[in-house]
Amino acid sequence: MALECPYCAQPNADRALVCNSCARDIAIPASLIAERDDLIRKREAVREELSRAKAELESYKIRKGRLATADR
Ligand SMILES: [Zn+2]
Repeated sequence: MALECPYCAQPNADRALVCNSCARDIAIPASLIAERDDLIRKREAVREELSRAKAELESYKIRKGRLATADR
């Protein structure tokens, strides 16, 4: 996959540090890549937590509904 230069939109080698067309610095710092990976992991964890909370809420609604009809 070619890395497109954000300045001149020319394709470069995937691990190019400098654009071969406009000679600008196009390398992505490893720290940014690590930060992105960390954010992706956190996003997945939050999504799992959200789906667990939704399931819990659904089961609560069902239980509450049963109790309400049993009272009558
Ligand atoms: Zn360029």
